[in-house]
Amino acid sequence: MATNGKIRETALNTYIKEVGGAVAAQLEACTRCGICAEACHFYLATGKPEYTPIWKVELVKRLYEQRFTPLGRLKVALGLAKPVSEAELREWVEYDYHACTMCQRCSLVCPMGIQIGDLIHMARSGLQAAGLTPEDLQQALDNQLEIGSPLGVDDDTFDERMEWIQEDWEVDLPIDKPGAEALLVFSSIEIMKFPDNIAAIAKILDAGGIRWTMSREAREATNFGLYAGSDELETFIAQRVIGPAKRMGVKRVIVSECGHAYDSLRFRIASLMGETLPFEIVHITEVIGELLDSGRIKIKPGVLDEKVTFHDACKIQRRGGNFDQPRQVLKQLAGDQFVEMTPNREEAFCCGGGGGVIATKAADTVRRAAFTVKIDQVQKTGAKKVAMTCSNCRLQFLDCVDHFALDWEVLGIAQLVADNLVK
Ligand code: SF4
Ligand code: SF4
Repeated sequence: MATNGKIRETALNTYIKEVGGAVAAQLEACTRCGICAEACHFYLATGKPEYTPIWKVELVKRLYEQRFTPLGRLKVALGLAKPVSEAELREWVEYDYHACTMCQRCSLVCPMGIQIGDLIHMARSGLQAAGLTPEDLQQALDNQLEIGSPLGVDDDTFDERMEWIQEDWEVDLPIDKPGAEALLVFSSIEIMKFPDNIAAIAKILDAGGIRWTMSREAREATNFGLYAGSDELETFIAQRVIGPAKRMGVKRVIVSECGHAYDSLRFRIASLMGETLPFEIVHITEVIGELLDSGRIKIKPGVLDEKVTFHDACKIQRRGGNFDQPRQVLKQLAGDQFVEMTPNREEAFCCGGGGGVIATKAADTVRRAAFTVKIDQVQKTGAKKVAMTCSNCRLQFLDCVDHFALDWEVLGIAQLVADNLVK
């Protein structure tokens, strides 16, 4: 951790490095209308003014003013404004790391088009550079940098788990198979907590006739560099997928049910690396949609005879636009028993566990509080089954189902498809 006296300066310097004209213009465009507050599940669940989206970048704004604007500098010189203090930087750790999933729902409603989620990501980058990343998030990041996995999946663990999945689920998991057209990458959560998801996706790809492989080197797509707010570390970590994918000559990288891995690889990495990738990055939900549309796989109609609803994941649906494929699956499996939450699709509320929040113990209370917004949405549908396409959301749902003693069944879309394939 940076020494106390250097914390503010390090954060400030990182901010100065990161800030550009467009960001500065965004900060200056805010009219303080307050509309973004009602978009944020953390604010709605707690009513805490500090959880208003724009307040989460207030410190960044003050740093900017004090460094870049003559008026800001004059105010500090005349003693009319206090320079940003180290204690304030520590206070903002809660607002930017615990109470924001970078879900971008606030950006959607801002009449001035301010990308608040991106600004919060930038605020995190300053805090990360200052050594203020929450301890457990930092530990997960260190694990990923040192052994390639935030949850400690080293080579031996990976081999053991893949062998176990092949035997128990009776699936073939090709690893580093030459001539594959697609590389399939997973999140640590799936490898360690949802092995059934790995088996399910293997069954779907095999049924669809796709020549696919996993890779020992590129086995995990989770990216704690993104969560921490470091573009440099995010790029370094993503190279572990990009490098092997290039060498294997695949046409596609298929990201499994992990929203942030998909966001990083699909929407950020090419730009961070400054190059065009020689393959496309797709989410497994898109692949399922393609296979169903082309008739390469079929699923049994009407097998779900109870109400089921769908939770839109921020990165896979709002960001990725993959709204229709999971609904296509649920409409086939459940017919009229599929019911929508309100609001849904791009306006859906985040589950509250993304952006590294679920990996941060100190955020447990606020994370579970934020989930009460989701409880309200699901209860209004009357469904006891909730399906989703993101394992991180699934982890948050399972934790909160347990915490709030809810009688819900939490389902993954890939699992539903694999369990109901027409042979
Ligand atoms: S909605 Fe936009 S303009 Fe209004 S307070 Fe929030 S960031 Fe500022
Ligand atoms: S990005 Fe999401 S969690 Fe963060 S402030 Fe905006 S609405 Fe809230």
